Amino acid sequence: MKFKNKSKITLNLKEPYENGLRWKIGINTVPCISVRKGKRCVYCGFINWEKPIEPQKVGGYFLDFFEKNYTKSISRVEVYSSGSFFDDCEVSANSRQEIVKTLNRDSIKEIVLETRPEFINSKNIKDLTKYIDPKKLFIAVGLETMSDEIRRKTAKGFTKKRFIKAIDVLQKEGVGFQAYLLLKPPVDMSEYESIVDLAKSVKDLVCLMKNKPSSLVVAVQPFFVAENSFIAKIPYFRNEFKPIWLYSIAKSIEILDKIRKEQKYDFKIILGNYKDNVETISVPSNYDESGKICTCSNKIRNYLNDINRHQKNVRIITDAVLAFKCDCKKSWIKEVGSKLQVKGF
Ligand code: SF4
Ligand SMILES: [Zn+2]
Repeated sequence: MKFKNKSKITLNLKEPYENGLRWKIGINTVPCISVRKGKRCVYCGFINWEKPIEPQKVGGYFLDFFEKNYTKSISRVEVYSSGSFFDDCEVSANSRQEIVKTLNRDSIKEIVLETRPEFINSKNIKDLTKYIDPKKLFIAVGLETMSDEIRRKTAKGFTKKRFIKAIDVLQKEGVGFQAYLLLKPPVDMSEYESIVDLAKSVKDLVCLMKNKPSSLVVAVQPFFVAENSFIAKIPYFRNEFKPIWLYSIAKSIEILDKIRKEQKYDFKIILGNYKDNVETISVPSNYDESGKICTCSNKIRNYLNDINRHQKNVRIITDAVLAFKCDCKKSWIKEVGSKLQVKGF
């Protein structure tokens, strides 16, 4: 296959985050259970890596890599296997413990471990909280939306009911939860409808999490077309599809910030990008009248990148983006902004 690669560490990215650095680490494990069953999510562009690490050896590789690359400015570490950190076929129980022990450093305040919800159970979590403060642990799930109907169209392969069962476990064990939510997924829905769905999903999540032991992180992932994904084979998504406007991303973050104030529930908002482990075909942008990518896009992307630095500055950044003066703004207002205003957003 075109994108095969033999590296053991598939992602090694350090980005500014709050007062330190956020370190994203990808490990070449056995592929995701959905890929193994031939049922990959429609947008999944994860590269097919050759020679994955055996599940029992993942912990050892991680330790070696960590020791060579760790610096004291790292405050958050995100660990990505090829699908699910808690899937024994990817990372064995011993390897999981070794990784968490390795990450138990004073500078590291947040540890994010990504998994599908079916692998979350009390034993798996307890195995780790023996070695680390549960408050430092965040279990991340690619929930995408709280709507089963929309998620089904992405071939994600789990339901809200299954997800809520996993949340109950996290609440019982007192570990945090990070929800990845997709903005403008490649399903039959408009940009406006997708922003409304994001707001609704976050309100539902707040109801589920508020006044409970686990904290919530909302990780917004603006959808982009990835090479090697199922939808990249469809000519419309390859050639015509316009990923979400950057103004819409700013507006969505502003809406989420309003929700956390209205609900008096201080969840964290993180904005995802498209630099992780995949090759891209098209990414969120602003567009001129003729539909071509507007020249302001790079500048606005740089503004948006700052959102993960300081939660308190989120509104300063979204206000700056939404007040940005460029001709393309008129097209955005016509296409999306005016509908959001009617909705009261
Ligand atoms: S998006 Fe995640 S869950 Fe879906 S196939 Fe890819 S790795 Fe698996
Ligand atoms: Zn512009």
